[in-house]
Amino acid sequence: MRADPAEYRLVSPGNLHAVLSLMAGEPAQWLPIAGGTDVMVLYSAGKLPNRKLINIWNIPEIRQIEVFPDRIRIGAACAYTELRRHEIVSREFPLLATAASWTGGIANQNRGTLGGNIANASPAADSLPALLVYDAELTLISVRGERRVAYRNFHAGYKQTALAVDELIRDISLPRRFRGYVSHARKVGARNAQAISKVCLAALGQIANGVIRDVRLALGSVAPVPLRLSETEHMLIGKNIEPSLIAAAKKSVVKEIQPIDDIRSTARYRAAVAGNLVAEFLEKLAAERARA
Ligand SMILES: Cc1cc2nc3c(=O)[nH]c(=O)nc-3n(C[C@H](O)[C@H](O)[C@H](O)COP(=O)(O)OP(=O)(O)OC[C@H]3O[C@@H](n4cnc5c(N)ncnc54)[C@H](O)[C@@H]3O)c2cc1C
Repeated sequence: MRADPAEYRLVSPGNLHAVLSLMAGEPAQWLPIAGGTDVMVLYSAGKLPNRKLINIWNIPEIRQIEVFPDRIRIGAACAYTELRRHEIVSREFPLLATAASWTGGIANQNRGTLGGNIANASPAADSLPALLVYDAELTLISVRGERRVAYRNFHAGYKQTALAVDELIRDISLPRRFRGYVSHARKVGARNAQAISKVCLAALGQIANGVIRDVRLALGSVAPVPLRLSETEHMLIGKNIEPSLIAAAKKSVVKEIQPIDDIRSTARYRAAVAGNLVAEFLEKLAAERARA
């Protein structure tokens, strides 16, 4: 442990209003801490710049999953274990439930939250591609009020987000309109648990009259932000899945992404894997068409 606890202050007001008031009163001073699975890594390494931490794990308003006829609303401080075990999340949003099951080990899933994954804004985060393909919408809250932000507009660049210094992510809404879709989630990493993705994919697709009616593709770890593959999607819609289309999709994926070399992988490997994962999904979609 390279940090001295005596240098830090942790408060736990226990209600949303008090948390937001403190954050507004001393802007950029108080760092929210939810599950702490990212914050404590920085703390232990002696790299946590903030000395004032404010606990948001015990705020009831941001710990619930609410189901409405047209959407579900996930409180930002819901942990992965809660997401994995929730019946509607597992049935209607399997890409998110699967990503939750990949995120670290069991202890990490009991503490790590969806809001923390979003705010931490790592391009390699596992749940973020699923949020892109499910058209998630975030509610951001401060003493100034609430505002809604489409998740696709939340990341402005590497580790840059639309969050103001006095704002929290309150919840994540997902529309309930992807029930008939074929879904495909893949994480490629050194191993399944406790490994950050080299590349991860969330994909949804629908076939009608033998052609692709809708397709939604998002990748993690291939760009400064989690990336929706809009050009590849556009190229695929209305087409029959055949080997030439799959080959063209692989090329299109490689054009859209901006992978880098880092300690986990190389840009070249990531580009090859990204294309292969999309190809694998299209083959699965074609197999579903054959069964229908
Ligand atoms: C051993 C280990 C394995 C891991 N494996 C994976 C993995 O496989 N895949 C993966 O994606 N991640 C992984 N992680 C990273 C981490 O678990 C996730 O990013 C997790 O979702 C973070 O949530 P948290 O509640 O713990 O965030 P915290 O550590 O509490 O906070 C993280 C950041 O988000 C901010 N924040 C938290 N909640 C809010 C909110 N509601 N509003 C505004 N800001 C907020 C905090 O201020 C902080 O800046 C791993 C971490 C560890 C330690």
